[in-house]
Amino acid sequence: MLLDLTKEQLRDWMKKEGESAFRGDQLFDALLRAKKLEEISTFSKELKTKIKPFYPNFCVRKKLTAKDGTIKYVFEFSDGEIVEGVLMKYKYGNTLCISTQVGCRMGCKFCASTLQGLKRNLTAGEMLEQVLLVNRDLGGDLKKRAVTNIVLMGMGEPLDNYENVSKFLKFVSSQDGLNISQRNITLSTCGIVPKIYQLADDGFSVTLTISLHATDDKSRQKLMPVAKAYSIKEILDACKYYFEKTGRRFAFEYALVNGENDSLKQAEKLALLLKGLPCLVNLIPLNYVKERNLKGSSISAVQGFLDYLKNHGINATKRRTMGEDIGGACGQLRAQILEDKK
Ligand code: SAH
Repeated sequence: MLLDLTKEQLRDWMKKEGESAFRGDQLFDALLRAKKLEEISTFSKELKTKIKPFYPNFCVRKKLTAKDGTIKYVFEFSDGEIVEGVLMKYKYGNTLCISTQVGCRMGCKFCASTLQGLKRNLTAGEMLEQVLLVNRDLGGDLKKRAVTNIVLMGMGEPLDNYENVSKFLKFVSSQDGLNISQRNITLSTCGIVPKIYQLADDGFSVTLTISLHATDDKSRQKLMPVAKAYSIKEILDACKYYFEKTGRRFAFEYALVNGENDSLKQAEKLALLLKGLPCLVNLIPLNYVKERNLKGSSISAVQGFLDYLKNHGINATKRRTMGEDIGGACGQLRAQILEDKK
């Protein structure tokens, strides 16, 4: 797919097709603007026919706008696979949450993305395609980008698709690419420890977020199979290493599941675990996933948990629940579309 190629490679590609290298620059420009192939007026019909099999789909299959302005997108790739993205509007800019895989093989008990297992990895170009489509949809262009922040928190486990994700991160943060600073990009992982070290060693400085969701290995294993491979201690060591290498604070996601991990005893354990670490805790009231029958905690339980952490020296915030009326949690919309297809 052409979005997987650099500007230089696109020039070479054009030359191989018997065109001038300049056509490669025009192609690069059109791709970054998420133009449909028909819209590239400078290309002849023959050239468009040659390009067509390799040109990205640039297809928003479905778009839902919530009352709070949050937009949920379903993107469809050339092979018909679909993934989800969510655009959240904040005072400081627009954050786009993108997917890194079609489905997921991590098997977390509360997550809709993993219900059907992993279908395939996304390429770097397909991750970029999501950003470019939304940028265009919001009326942004190459100079004035509408998408200012990116979070890799949609479907998939980014560190289970390291090669493509790292290629994507390099491109979107490069001057020649979208020039979005790595400080404005967040990578969320269920905690694949060796890849956290690799991310640090490869010189990335994105914000690292760990999906923790429990305070001891045994209860974590009940919610997240990956916890059988890596202990919380190993994860914390990897986070400290990431901080030493990058100087970047890290964060933890903690989804509060009613009756599972939301007691004050758990808050106390969490505070002890994280005391003194350069980190932030994001509390997320669990989005109900009907297939799993796990419910989010009550507002008062969330508030009690938050207050406890704050009163015990832990930086913590409650994630604003956004787009609840449109199936905001990962994988919910795709699951619904696959169900409708049956
Ligand atoms: N695989 C990565 C990123 C995708 S999930 C990871 O595990 O971090 C993004 C975040 O949403 C994770 O913290 C995940 O645990 C959380 N999440 C998944 N299902 C959820 C649900 N039903 N309610 C609230 N958060 C959920």
